This record gives sequence, structure tokens and C-alpha cells, in this order.
Amino acid sequence: MNNQGLSEEEIFSYLENAKSEDTDYYRVLSSMCTHPHKIAVEAHRLFIEANLGDLGLFAGAHRLEKEVIKMLGELLHAPSIGTPSGNSFDSSVCGYLTTGGTESNIQAVRGMKNLVNAGKKDVGKIPNIVIPESAHFSFDKIANMMGIEVRRALLDSELKVDPASVESLIDTNTVGLVGIAGTTEFGQIDPIEELSRLALENELFFHVDAAFGGFVIPFLENQYPFDFEVPGVTSIAIDPHKMGLSTIPSGALLFRSPSFLESLKVSTPYLTTKSQFTLTGTRSGASAAATCAVMKHLGREGYVKNVQYCMHLTTKLVEEAREIGFEPLIKPLMNVVALKVPNPDLVRQQLLKRFGWNVSITRNPRSLRLVLMPHNTALDIEEFLQDLKKVTSEL
Ligand code: PLP
Repeated sequence: MNNQGLSEEEIFSYLENAKSEDTDYYRVLSSMCTHPHKIAVEAHRLFIEANLGDLGLFAGAHRLEKEVIKMLGELLHAPSIGTPSGNSFDSSVCGYLTTGGTESNIQAVRGMKNLVNAGKKDVGKIPNIVIPESAHFSFDKIANMMGIEVRRALLDSELKVDPASVESLIDTNTVGLVGIAGTTEFGQIDPIEELSRLALENELFFHVDAAFGGFVIPFLENQYPFDFEVPGVTSIAIDPHKMGLSTIPSGALLFRSPSFLESLKVSTPYLTTKSQFTLTGTRSGASAAATCAVMKHLGREGYVKNVQYCMHLTTKLVEEAREIGFEPLIKPLMNVVALKVPNPDLVRQQLLKRFGWNVSITRNPRSLRLVLMPHNTALDIEEFLQDLKKVTSEL
């Protein structure tokens, strides 16, 4: 650290210099985040100091958090809605705002493990969960930190998890299943109803990771059952900082029953509340305000328009890619396209080096992964495909 403080001018010149190194989402086809809505940015600024880790001091920000949970609960067909207020619950279904999908997934699995440890189910020393092979890498972190075995079930030809493979991995030490509604790499939706049936038959918890799909699936023309309407679903991760157009960090975790939150509780002796259910201590009240503001401002109609726009780009990309000889691995359900191209790793490298396109690669099978977000335009798609054609023709 410098000994003497720099002037405001010097600081901002330094920051602007650093900011110029960011992509600002220009030619970015690899991200599930985007520019937050300007209403969210303003709301975030207004609550910049609010700490949801100490709820008693920030009653207003906490009220906004509860409102977000209520809106998300309605969106995800939760039977009744509530949020923890220190050491009591307003009603049955509940949740809280997290830093994103990773934290939500960690907490959902931690809840499963704690409930089992609390004697709800008799399992061996190392409990296990069964997840799809396509699960986000946050589950690698869970495997590493939670003392739980993470079993990976195979995918079918449409890159959805195969329920038969899930069933074959369930044993007496299994505590829960995970299904993905909007896989990171393929935008695919797992067969949530079949997984729910397996969960109910085997008395397992069932977490749905809708970190990306949660703000997409409810607004699509085609409807897919993926939320609390499906009876076996016990928890859902949904991220306002992805297709919800809120500021980073904004994730959310919803539980069907307060017993999950109870299982996550620790005492907080020197705070204004008696206990805490969250993974992080200090939490951003600004994110709660941002998410509340953008959800109320856009309403259902606004999110439908947002998804329609991204789906329009997706259809355009798929149709025009076909014209130059590239097929998607699966027909996209949402705004994620996995495109079959020769030598995807090299193509990716060349697209970035020669034309500044940020794209990514799916793991298995390897293909070019493209996410069509609100920051992309129809012109982007046309230019991208021209550049893709050049790169692949010169391979
Ligand atoms: N789950 C899914 C399905 C995701 O696509 C992602 C991120 O892309 C995550 C979890 C992790 O979210 P975050 O990076 O906000 O922690």
C-alpha cells in the first residue's frame, strides 16, 4: 500500500485504466452474466452499506430480501412463502439470498447432510448424493469440502440425466438427488418429474439447480415442470445475477420446508439476531435491493420480453450456423447453444486471437458453447458466424 493517499482524480484515472482492460461484455458469447438493469444498479447504490448479516440493523434491506423470496416463491410455485427473521419463520416455504449458484448448491447439500445427521435417516459413515454428469463444477467443491461422496449419473443422447443411471447409483447411504434445470454447458433440462419420483420412492432430498434456468424456463413459450410444483423437489437454486438482470452477487436458495433452514442454523451471540442460517456472515443488502427493484420494475412481462429476445438470437444463430454447415448438439431449449465444429479447442483459440470473440467449450462431448445474452445483438451473430466460417475454413 502506498504511504500517502492518492487524490480522487488519481484513483479514478487508475480505475478507468483497469476498467479499459475489461471486455464490458463486448463479443462475449461465453458468459451467463450480463449488464445489470439500470434500476438494479441504482437500487444497489442506495443500499450499498446494508449488511444482511446483521438483520436487526437493516430492517429495510431485510424487508426487501423477504419480498424477493416471496416473489421467487410465487415464480417457482412454492406452496407458501416465508423467510427467516433471526430465529423464527413467517411461514412454511422459505429461503434467503446467497452470493450465487455455488453458495446455493453448497447450502442445499449441507442442509441434506445436517438433516440426515440429525437422525432423520439412518445412513453409513459417508453419505452420498447423486448428481448428473453435466452438473456445474460447484459440485466438485461440494465433493471436496463436505465429507460427502458425489456420484455422477450418465446422460442420455439428448444430454439429460438418465434416470436409470441415477437409480443404479442410489444405495442405503444416498441422502439426496440433484437435477439441473438449465445445464451450464447445454442449457438442457433434466427429467425433473422422473427424478422427483425416484426421490419420493427412496425418501431422498431433491435439489434442483436452476441457477441459470430459473429466470428463463418460466418465461419460455414451452412449459417444462421443474419447480416446487413437482412434489419431490425440496430445494431450488435460482440466480438473479444471471438472467434475472440483477447486480452481482445475487443468488437465491429456496426450501420447501423450514426444517432445512433450521438444520443450517448457528448461534450468533453478539449480533442483533440470535442465529444465522446463511453460509457467509456479512451479506450484501444492496443485492437484495437491486433484485427487488429489477423484479418489480420488469414484472413477468419484462422477463418474458428478455427471454424472447435471447431466444430470437438463439434461433437466428442456429439457423444461420446450419446454413454454413454447423449443427447444434441438441435443439436448444433455452439460450445456450452447443455447436458441433471440427477441433473446437483450436477454433475457440483462433476466434479469440483473431477476432476477439469469447466463447467456451463443453466438456463431453467437446463442442463450441455459446450463450446468447441480453448484451448480444443480431449483428453480433452475423459477424460471429462470418468469423467462425473463416476460422474453420482455414483449419
Ligand atoms: N449452477 C449452474 C447451473 C450454473 O450454470 C452456474 C454458473 O454458471 C452455477 C451453478 C454457479 O453459479 P455462480 O457462479 O453464481 O456461483
